[in-house]
Amino acid sequence: VLGHPVSHSRSPAMQNAALRELGLANEWSYESLDFVPEEFEERTRKLPSRGFVGANITIPHKEAALALAGEASEEARAIGAANTLSFDGGEIRAENTDAPGLLAALPSSPAGKRALVLGAGGSARAAAWALAGQGASVDVWNRTGARAGRLVRDLARTDAPGRIAPVATEQIGPVAYELIVNCTAVGLAGEDPFEQLPIDPRRLDAHPILVDLVYGGEETRLVREARGRGATVVDGLEVLVRQGAESLRIWTGLEPPLEAMREGARAG
Ligand code: NAP
Repeated sequence: VLGHPVSHSRSPAMQNAALRELGLANEWSYESLDFVPEEFEERTRKLPSRGFVGANITIPHKEAALALAGEASEEARAIGAANTLSFDGGEIRAENTDAPGLLAALPSSPAGKRALVLGAGGSARAAAWALAGQGASVDVWNRTGARAGRLVRDLARTDAPGRIAPVATEQIGPVAYELIVNCTAVGLAGEDPFEQLPIDPRRLDAHPILVDLVYGGEETRLVREARGRGATVVDGLEVLVRQGAESLRIWTGLEPPLEAMREGARAG
């Protein structure tokens, strides 16, 4: 996994647990490498000659990863970011498993659901694209409203069964969202989600599906509150496991051992 910083990433513990479970740990290993942005392209291009078959990409390199790849999946191109690279005979291929990973983590199909995506960064783009692609009606809220507008314009797709629209704080109150996805960094440093985000905790009494992409050592306040109020909760580690599983499938062609990955991610 390539990032800057990257030492906090749970991906090495999770992916090495998967490799052990698959009996590949003698031949394969998964590491984290801290690449500063100025050196990202040069150092990434050297990875195949160092024996790497692929890489996950995290903050702040997901756009640069897409830009350097010779080939890219439709998802990665549409979202404008890649979290997975594969190296094959000198070619670099870019994919985005954040989108299918989120869908795989959901307890039911988002088709026809009213969804609220909080945030307009890289993970919000993947979430909005994935949900609209499955037929959800997606509202995107962001602290910096102009960025939500840009996201919606960039992701406009005529072929998607769902739709994506920007939403302002005062428009959110009356809508009964069935799915809420926190794609902001709020909660990472213990911030109060109910102060920083336009969610009234009482909204969770209606038992929506609540996905919090943020993960850390402990359960986030948003996840704790949602669980306590009877919402169906998907935490950030489950989303991490699902996107990692899709990446592992790309590199190895094998069925990912989800339970071993969950244990590795939680222990890591
Ligand atoms: P990003 O591109 O840097 O975007 C950050 C987003 O958070 C922006 O929308 C930003 O709003 C918002 N934000 C930051 N501080 C805020 C605050 N105090 N109040 C309201 N909004 C705030 O980051 P990203 O890659 O999308 O990642 C977002 C979060 O998801 C991070 O915590 C990351 O660790 C997590 N994540 C988890 C997974 C997983 O697999 N579980 C995968 C990807 C990301 P502005 O535009 O207004 O600045």
